[in-house]
Amino acid sequence: MDTIGGINIIPENDPERIAALERYQIAGSQKETAFDSICRLACELFSVPISHISFLDADTEYVKAEVGMDGLERIGRAEGFCALAILQPEVMLIEDASENPVFANHPYVSGETMIRFYAAAPVITPDGFIIGTLCLIDRTPRKLNDKERELLQHLARVVMEQTELRNDNINLVEQRDRFIEIASHEMRTPLTALKASAQILGKKYPEGTGMVAQIDKSVQKLSGMVNDMFDTMRLTKTSFDLNRTSFILESLIKDCRDHIRLVGKKELIIEGDNQIKLSADREKVERVLINLIQNALKYAPSSPIILQTETLPGYVKLSTIDEGPGIPADKLPLIFRRYYRLDPKGIQTGLGLGLYIAAEIVKQHGGEIGVISEFRQGCIFWLTLPVAV
Ligand code: ADP
Repeated sequence: MDTIGGINIIPENDPERIAALERYQIAGSQKETAFDSICRLACELFSVPISHISFLDADTEYVKAEVGMDGLERIGRAEGFCALAILQPEVMLIEDASENPVFANHPYVSGETMIRFYAAAPVITPDGFIIGTLCLIDRTPRKLNDKERELLQHLARVVMEQTELRNDNINLVEQRDRFIEIASHEMRTPLTALKASAQILGKKYPEGTGMVAQIDKSVQKLSGMVNDMFDTMRLTKTSFDLNRTSFILESLIKDCRDHIRLVGKKELIIEGDNQIKLSADREKVERVLINLIQNALKYAPSSPIILQTETLPGYVKLSTIDEGPGIPADKLPLIFRRYYRLDPKGIQTGLGLGLYIAAEIVKQHGGEIGVISEFRQGCIFWLTLPVAV
């Protein structure tokens, strides 16, 4: 395992090299277009049919990007040629592998892959560790002149720069998420205290009820946002724990209607059969429905709002229907994404988290969620949930 053609492939500094690779969280990560583009560029520049970018840890070569390798994702560290290319900082060049004593009998040379030409520039971290390679492969023998060698090395430096940028981005997102998690957690306690104080104040000074109601409304709004931020951060790490119970849909719909009467001062139109028994996390499903109805109130304030139920085999389908501004077709695929807002500069405030959280809750119940909409023709947000057996 530790040799290729009798050559030891484990450098002395391998543990430190692997630690350097781990800093970048890139081994085994998903394909990314920036790396794919570098491979495509390499194929064009050097007129080769195959190119790949690989990162090598203790036992695996992870193919981060490739052209001409049928989507290969990983091979054993000693299976390919790259384990040798990371032993030194120069370009490793094999002009004709079938003539090379180390590689002539290698399965990639004698077998149907038929590699003849192989050139690899090491990908080197700023502190000098070789974590991967940028490779060119051809099935016919070839040469590489000095200028081409330099160009290949230069492209490998671009791979490293892209790896650095990617890492900076990951770290920034982690910092942002940590900040939101701490801030939203810390804001919950004072908000609860503020809400309680407003209620006491309202009782003590009935002449100020209007102002207290205003405080209460603002605290509610703020609490909603803080809860959404807090839940989103929990969702990025783990999923929600569901507390499933069996209940009749009617009771849930009644609670939603009461909520809307209270906050929206509007009558929710209920349609369909509500006597269905669900086995679900009642609180979370209520939160999803309230979110959809509140969105309808927010974005379609002058429209009637319908909550419709429909029974399907094994499932119940719940839809909220409004006749508001709707959503343009090209924006529909984005609507359940984290932080997505159609009109971030519009008069309606929000964080773009409600639909994301709703979708996560529905998915965790084994259901589906979606939207049907036409611009200026209103929205139908629908979701399915399994019925109790
Ligand atoms: P928020 O309301 O905080 O922006 P959501 O995730 O609940 O976040 O909604 C995301 C976006 O979807 C909203 O910003 C809005 O542009 C759009 N949207 C949601 N519901 C409706 C609706 N009923 N009608 C029109 N647009 C809607």
